[in-house]
Amino acid sequence: GHLPSSDRVTTLVAQARDRFHSVDQGKVADYIPALAQVSRELFGVCVVGVDGSIHAAGDTDYQFSIQSVSKPFVFALICQVIGEDEARAKLGVNSTGRAFDSVIAITKINQGTSNPMVNAGAIAATSLAPGNTAADKWQFIQTELSRFAGRPLTLNEAVYQSEAATNQRNQGIAKLLQAYDRIFFDSTEATDIYTKQCSLNVTAKDLAVMAATLANGGVNPLTQERIIDPVHCQHVLAVMVTAGLYENSGDWLYETGLPGKSGVSGGMVTVSPGKGGLGTFAPPLDEAGNSVKGQLVTQFLSEQLGLNLFASQ
Ligand code: GLN
Repeated sequence: GHLPSSDRVTTLVAQARDRFHSVDQGKVADYIPALAQVSRELFGVCVVGVDGSIHAAGDTDYQFSIQSVSKPFVFALICQVIGEDEARAKLGVNSTGRAFDSVIAITKINQGTSNPMVNAGAIAATSLAPGNTAADKWQFIQTELSRFAGRPLTLNEAVYQSEAATNQRNQGIAKLLQAYDRIFFDSTEATDIYTKQCSLNVTAKDLAVMAATLANGGVNPLTQERIIDPVHCQHVLAVMVTAGLYENSGDWLYETGLPGKSGVSGGMVTVSPGKGGLGTFAPPLDEAGNSVKGQLVTQFLSEQLGLNLFASQ
């Protein structure tokens, strides 16, 4: 299948943005102090087709920190480097059913594995980045996430400093992983690289391009560069389906029928395999830390564009 005609997609993206623009529910994240500074009004919606077509409405060029939306892309890169079997053995791929920053999800029963969409598995994934030093690992992550976006992504220093000063919980998670031999680099340094990874600036348009790359078998539809092999896209999307919206992943799948990933800054990606990617930005979050308007607009577009993976036609 394909997306509907280009004009139709452009019209629906604009309609979708107008439809939910005035929704004022949710709370902007403030556990990372710098995130609380962002305006709750910002709202951008962008669809990028696997053919490279771009359909944007609203604040799609506004830069914000990527946060947990980085997780599926880093997991994809780690699968590419160490292979999907080793990635699964080291990180786990089962849903925890718990919050993104859950400590009690890290249990003896699973030998400390979780999945790479929650902080524990994501910090472990980051620790597996190639390179012998923190600087090399960070450079790998920044360079490769930039290739997913098709442009150089820069660090949001204010967000990084703010989170680095307040990320004791993630440092604790990393130490707990160490106790289970489930972190593969110095735990403090791995947490710091993960914090930088979460602080990379992106736009809703960048997120749509990144999502479209996963929809397109790992080739960025704008630059035509191959970032990962097609087989890894399938694995990443499978883990997104079960865990991309943390404890609300079941509700999300019920509503959209698509793999998605949220982040606390209000960004979201949704992937329609073989068709395209959706990137949204709207800071107010629900209780699980997922963008309220991002979810509404994605559900609407999934229906209107006919993207639900479980629809028979
Ligand atoms: N950097 C954030 C954290 O680790 C990312 C969490 C998120 O976006 N859900 O707390």
